[in-house]
Parts: sequence; structure tokens; C-alpha cells
Amino acid sequence: MNSCRGVASHRDFVDMDLTEIVDCMADHDVIEARKITKMVDGTRRSTSSVIFTFSDAKLPERVHVQYESVPVRPCIPKTLRCFNCQLYGHHGNACRSSLNLLGYMRRRRSLGGSMHILGREVP
Ligand SMILES: [Zn+2]
Repeated sequence: MNSCRGVASHRDFVDMDLTEIVDCMADHDVIEARKITKMVDGTRRSTSSVIFTFSDAKLPERVHVQYESVPVRPCIPKTLRCFNCQLYGHHGNACRSSLNLLGYMRRRRSLGGSMHILGREVP
């Protein structure tokens, strides 16, 4: 694989759109940029952090954004974990496991019992 992903943060990224950001990073071989957003009072707002995909296999230590040198951190994606069986590597809607934690919780709840998950009692 000849590309890598990294996260850079700069205060000007909040108000810039993605094409402006990619144009601004033209001399760093950026293939793609994706903003990191957050929910504030029910609306999605962009943060100052952007995930960049570089065409080089080696992640640059720093990038230049409008005459400032900004450090680049490696992008570590979230772990994919099944909501149904709690195993790693697949979504709940693609689950083929015989373990069904959600069904177990519903049965226990309908019977009025409590159960323990990760050492805590859940009603
Ligand atoms: Zn599963």
C-alpha cells in the first residue's frame, strides 16, 4: 500500500472547505482530506482537525499550513466491534455469531432478572 493517513490540526481548518484545504496542502502529496466533526447542541460542527491521506507510504512529521509548521499524528481508526455479540471485526447487521448478547439482555429484562456485564450489575 503506497498511502498513509495522518491527522493535522490548525485553527484555520474550521472555516475552510475541503477543496481549499487540499489546495493548501498541494506540495505535500495529499490525495484526500476529511474533516473530523463533533455534535454540539444537536448540530454537527467541524473541528480544527483534518484526516489527510498522503500518496507516500511514509507519514510526514510536519506539514506547512499558511506559513506555519503543523505536526502530523498517525491516524488510528476506531476498532470495529459487533453490537450483537461484542466480538471484533464485524458490524451487528453482518453478525453470524451464535452469541447474541442483545437477545440475552432482552430475555433477562422480560423475565425481570438482573445480569452482570463487565463486573457491573445491569437491571
Ligand atoms: Zn457479531
